[in-house]
Amino acid sequence: MSDTVSSVPLITPQDLEAFLDETLTEEELARIESALREQPTLRRELARILERRDQGEHSVAAIWRRFQVSCPSREELALFLAKKLPRPQADYIRFHLEVIACAICQANLDDLQSAQAQ
Ligand SMILES: [Zn+2]
Repeated sequence: MSDTVSSVPLITPQDLEAFLDETLTEEELARIESALREQPTLRRELARILERRDQGEHSVAAIWRRFQVSCPSREELALFLAKKLPRPQADYIRFHLEVIACAICQANLDDLQSAQAQ
């Protein structure tokens, strides 16, 4: 897996707002999703926007449910638990769990953790 940060076009705060408003085409969505995976600064930016917006229909959880496609795989979660993921991926999963608070991945992680404990 190679890093392709340099090939990702610049994402503006306006792009992120549009991402949250779901006014993007599928192509743009995919572009922003992959940029979010690769760029910690962009994730911080998104977290800031989410914080500001975290009310009513724009709760973090509500938004994330729609973008579940971004969830890491169970294999990735297992590697994350074992601390065997490369830094950018581990960072992304931490962001996904802590900032986005994805209930699905948290449940998966808990499950993996209890399986591991046995
Ligand atoms: Zn998830």
